[in-house]
Amino acid sequence: METSPAAAETRKELVGLSRAALAAEMTAMGAEPFRVRQLWHWIYNRGVTDIAAMTTLSKAFRAALAERYVVGRPSVARALASLDGTRKWLLRFADGQEAECVHIPEEDRGTLCVSSQVGCTLTCTFCHTGTQRLVRNLTAAEIVGQVMLARDALGEWPSPQDDRQLTNIVLMGMGEPLFNYDNVAAALKIVMDHEGLSLSRRKITLSTSGVVPMIRRCGEELAVNLAISLHAVTDELRDVLVPINRKYPLAELLEACRTYPGASNARRITFEYVMLKGVNDSPAEARALVRLLAGIPAKVNLIPFNPWPGAPYERSGEAAIKEFADIVNDAGYSSPVRTPRGEDIMAACGQLKSDSVRKRKSALSATPAEAG
Ligand code: SAH
Ligand code: SF4
Repeated sequence: METSPAAAETRKELVGLSRAALAAEMTAMGAEPFRVRQLWHWIYNRGVTDIAAMTTLSKAFRAALAERYVVGRPSVARALASLDGTRKWLLRFADGQEAECVHIPEEDRGTLCVSSQVGCTLTCTFCHTGTQRLVRNLTAAEIVGQVMLARDALGEWPSPQDDRQLTNIVLMGMGEPLFNYDNVAAALKIVMDHEGLSLSRRKITLSTSGVVPMIRRCGEELAVNLAISLHAVTDELRDVLVPINRKYPLAELLEACRTYPGASNARRITFEYVMLKGVNDSPAEARALVRLLAGIPAKVNLIPFNPWPGAPYERSGEAAIKEFADIVNDAGYSSPVRTPRGEDIMAACGQLKSDSVRKRKSALSATPAEAG
């Protein structure tokens, strides 16, 4: 029998299990309940991946654990560093699927942009991820794994109390997080656990294209910050740019925002608005945006369109972006323009992965069976 070089791992992954699930595993092994807390500490506070190094556990117990379990990380297919300090990892999971994760350092914070799916089932016309054919949900382990891998790369173990380089998490990578709610919720509960990675819900932002029926639950159960990919002020245009709008139109979406649990002037909902030249960037639309947001504790995030090969749009000009921002600002909404980061490493949503797929596709262009 031939064994492949990467023999299939049959041991169970511990990363991504809830405390309750970890406890059930330990009970099944006949271990005392306090082992759960010790293990949790090694995995999520210390970041240890080698079970043999978990020295508060007896040697015999470590050996028994290592027979049954692994503490892993997604593997890195490519790692890139931008001149501006942005780092990007293209992750490859056990089944060969890929997703990406980006760390963006700023003066007062460091934000990790996490993916929730491989690809996306939605087809927003300006988004490169939406053009990728293969889609699957990421598991809780694969989502938490992105945070842990970034911590590895930043050298941030044990979980620091302050002076962290990874202070914030945004679910703004590939995929629609509210279409993979259960795994995203399981992962975020682990990320927020005080005895582990310990990131506050106030530092976590979930971005959705507008899966209205899941928004309230997200607020009630996770209480993280909410960002809405708005991008248009009329149903007519939003139906085209963000097609899920046909199912959940603007009025319903804005009502869900108005009643989002925990939203207040101190914790505003972010409305993301991609600036597309001649499509959605007129002063009239800026004024309509202000009218739409009335009554919602909101801030606006203007995102200059990130072009990709074959994209049907162009980035709005600087003057148009400034005029739009001024109108929104003058109405009392903070409306920073997101500075493009990591452009030299294609850090925008979906771009590195597509680049890798394209390269493989051209190398394998004669084998149509190769899904890309
Ligand atoms: N699926 C979720 C989260 C991932 S996308 C959502 O749509 O909200 C994160 C943000 O990047 C969204 O606001 C999305 O609309 C925006 N985005 C996608 N492609 C973009 C591009 N090419 N240029 C600028 N922003 C883009
Ligand atoms: Fe999916 Fe978000 Fe891209 Fe739309 S913008 S295709 S929802 S990842």
